[in-house]
Amino acid sequence: MDSATRWKEMTKDLEYTEDFECPKCHKGVLHYTTIEPYPEGLDEQGRKNYRRMTIDQCGTCKAKFIRPYD
Ligand SMILES: [Zn+2]
Repeated sequence: MDSATRWKEMTKDLEYTEDFECPKCHKGVLHYTTIEPYPEGLDEQGRKNYRRMTIDQCGTCKAKFIRPYD
């Protein structure tokens, strides 16, 4: 499975986390976050240089936000 497929697969089941104010509805302490997996075949140095993204989904209005993980 390549990383794009894996990323898509992962975002189907977003994990619940806390501590988030939705930029859209300004509510939604409930939200879901998924961290992008590293692409396959990256060595340790490649992983250090690769900026992963996360997807947050507001549990109130269901808006999704992509942001850098680090
Ligand atoms: Zn929201």
